[in-house]
Amino acid sequence: MQLSLPLPELADAGGPSAAGERVYCNRTLRLDRIDWVGFDMDYTLAVYRQATMDRLTIDAALGKLVAAGYPESLRSCAYRTDFPIRGLLVDRKLGNILKMDRYAYVKRAYHGTRELTKEERRRCYHTRRLRTGSPRYHWVDTLYALSEVTLYAAVVDALEAAGEAVDHDALFGDVREAVDASHQDGSINDHIRADPGAHVLRDPRLGHTLHRLRSAGKRLFLLTNSPPETTEAMMTFLLAEGPAEYGQWRAYFDLVVTAAKKPSFFASDAPFRPAGGGAPRAATGLERNVVYTGGNRAGLEERLGVTPDRVLYVGDHIYGDVLSAKKQTAWRTLMIVQEMEAEVETHRQLAPQRERLRELEGHRERLHDELRTHQGPLKALERRRDAGEELAPAEDATRLRHRRAVTRLRARLRATEDELEALEQRIAGAFHGFWGSLFKAGAEVSSFGYQVEAYAGLYTSKVTNLLSYSPMHEFRSPHDRMPHELG
Ligand SMILES: [Mg+2]
Repeated sequence: MQLSLPLPELADAGGPSAAGERVYCNRTLRLDRIDWVGFDMDYTLAVYRQATMDRLTIDAALGKLVAAGYPESLRSCAYRTDFPIRGLLVDRKLGNILKMDRYAYVKRAYHGTRELTKEERRRCYHTRRLRTGSPRYHWVDTLYALSEVTLYAAVVDALEAAGEAVDHDALFGDVREAVDASHQDGSINDHIRADPGAHVLRDPRLGHTLHRLRSAGKRLFLLTNSPPETTEAMMTFLLAEGPAEYGQWRAYFDLVVTAAKKPSFFASDAPFRPAGGGAPRAATGLERNVVYTGGNRAGLEERLGVTPDRVLYVGDHIYGDVLSAKKQTAWRTLMIVQEMEAEVETHRQLAPQRERLRELEGHRERLHDELRTHQGPLKALERRRDAGEELAPAEDATRLRHRRAVTRLRARLRATEDELEALEQRIAGAFHGFWGSLFKAGAEVSSFGYQVEAYAGLYTSKVTNLLSYSPMHEFRSPHDRMPHELG
């Protein structure tokens, strides 16, 4: 029997219209097999205005650097909040900032904000394997940490321009300390609390998104590293516009855990305590409508009372949220990658350029093949001649014919490669002026893209994108074929 379409019960499950608002899937997941959905708060439910937050952070931190003995002139030093992206590596020893592909091969590098030449890059990073896990390197994996990179690059530039001898490693430590202190002493938080709307984007669909999951029978928890007071203020702001029946934000969640100390939360045995003090509580006795601090993953799982594979955790931090959830337990993960919307839109707009890129790559391959068909016989003939043998006139004519072909093909190859390089640069520049695409490094997947692919079950630009999918949706992975099965 043929079904008549469209099916009315599928009407609201048609998926999002814009590609930037889709939920992308690395590992197949059926939402109907999820009982609990957990959320991180900062940069997951709370989407910050990045440039505003960076300026607030950097201005506060510059003041602290000056107070710690750095030159007064730093207070007015120029910085560019659009300089860094996620997934960069800071080389603390040399004061460089690097972008790598999935094989930890450095594809781009800046000293401060000056791009390293190919030769500098080769000398520093290509002659031996990068030990990216060593203390020399610092991995930038959150939007929260971008301000540190902006500040570090700006101070390296400013101090070196003033002719100062810079200890790049110590400077990075001081920058991080100044940023941390600004987060802790209220320099940043007081501003956010005074005017959350100026610092955080409120999505009016957030309450509806959470409600939709709940009305499909799922229970929700909040698991954040933020302290309880900040969580209270932020969640009140974020969920001010939800469905009327909820009243206040805590009504959406069956469990709220703050100051959780992720990633150590996943492996520790720290107790759960009610916010505001009090004796530790047994995990199984954790109640709705109480905000807890601390805690640990094993206790939380005990309280949730389902097998860990029926938990979906939504977070933005590849290490603290996603990788830990995958390695320490069997939680499924949805990673929030805010940059997706711009990334996907740029990718779409560049379709003609990508098509031309493929053409040029095919052309280059053919030229190489053709070149080799002339180089083989040419070399053989020249070897005989160089060994003192006199070639017959016909052979010498053949040698000359091959020689001319090689010269002609080499020139065409050079022209093709120049065009390819210029086009690759134009494409990268359309994504980001300094670093290119977040997910790609040249033709390869970037180290950040690789981590998203390897660890995040699902990824999307924002939590409210879930609203376009049925709470019973099955997300299917495209990665069910190996290279030898393609095409
Ligand atoms: Mg977060």
